[in-house]
Amino acid sequence: THVAMHSSGFREFLLKPELDKVIGDCGFEHPSEVQNECIPQAILGHDIICQAKSGMGKTAVFVLSVLQQIDINPTGVVALILCHTRELAYQICDEFDRFTKYMSTVKTAVIYGGMPVQTQKDMLRDRQPNIVIGTPGRVLQLASEHSLNLKSIKHFILDECDSLLESLDMRKDIQKIYKLTSPTKQVMMFSATLSDQIRGVCKKFMHVPFEIYINDGSKLTLHGLQQYYVKLTEDQKNRKLVDLLDSLDFNQVVIFVKSVERAKALNSILSEVGFASICIHRDLKQPERIEQYRKFKNFQSRVMVATNIFGRGIDIERVNVVINYDMAESPDTYLHRVGRAGRFGTKGLAISFITAAEDLTTLDQVQSKFVVSVKDLPEKIDPSTY
Ligand code: ADP
Ligand code: MG
Repeated sequence: THVAMHSSGFREFLLKPELDKVIGDCGFEHPSEVQNECIPQAILGHDIICQAKSGMGKTAVFVLSVLQQIDINPTGVVALILCHTRELAYQICDEFDRFTKYMSTVKTAVIYGGMPVQTQKDMLRDRQPNIVIGTPGRVLQLASEHSLNLKSIKHFILDECDSLLESLDMRKDIQKIYKLTSPTKQVMMFSATLSDQIRGVCKKFMHVPFEIYINDGSKLTLHGLQQYYVKLTEDQKNRKLVDLLDSLDFNQVVIFVKSVERAKALNSILSEVGFASICIHRDLKQPERIEQYRKFKNFQSRVMVATNIFGRGIDIERVNVVINYDMAESPDTYLHRVGRAGRFGTKGLAISFITAAEDLTTLDQVQSKFVVSVKDLPEKIDPSTY
């Protein structure tokens, strides 16, 4: 029989058999570029700042690196992952749960605001998790009230770190949380977008980090993603949207709007015309928000109306179309939003409605910053191309 002379892909990282096995179960064949660059450094315990475009598997970088380094019988909380929304916290936890399939002694927990704090205290006490994923405010509260002991943390991770650190409230909470952890720990931060200024902030949390910038600004474009704009007036938007939903061949579509009010209004309009859409925004009660997210993830609905809270990090395989019903307010926001389609090199389509002068400005900035050409939406797009 033929024996391969060169090992390839994930095996080269020499991960634990428990991880090799689950990687195989997940159907991951080849590491992405960001995984190839980061994992060998991360599993050695180095601090990491990593920028790489959306959908290329940054989550698996820190999930695998933490699990590789963790004791098979860990005690206490050894890894803390902070992120900016609750849905993302859930998604990251699911990823840890998936990869701990053969490491059943490792326990995970998600904590976030908007849920009764006592329930989470009880959960932490009963479950004794080793890996905690959460949003900064609630993590800080639980740590300050001694329900969450952060002294044993060995891995401190920020996902979508620019979003976390740009918000001054969250940055303050993160600094306080950081101070509650022991000084000897690995710090890792990830995003698709990192300004020079935020890079500086990130480094303040680290010792000589390993800096990995897979795709600097101009190369952040997703190649499988077709991008178009439509110029129209505000009162033409609904009609155009419905036409698009009728004519496009989408699996799942995310429609972004700029405010909670507009999300609610559009959601009811879509329901009236027969698109059973679901809606995610900050005003929903927490359990409902998570339920909407789960429904969409489980394909119970094909259309989602969302505000920017859903614009980053969320990974839903079947989303192949993103519509900016309201244009994004900045090029970075645009990049994150349209990155919800075309995950892991798959195809996708992004269409932006351009109404106001500032929409046009953002569109121009997108094209120059990311060196991409966004074209006028043609009459027909071959469905096999997205
Ligand atoms: P990012 O955080 O970089 O935007 P994610 O970590 O959300 O990307 O990953 C995007 C998708 O790609 C996920 O569904 C993930 O399971 C999948 N994925 C990650 N790494 C691989 C790989 N090596 N092979 C195949 N699929 C992968
Ligand atoms: Mg991510």
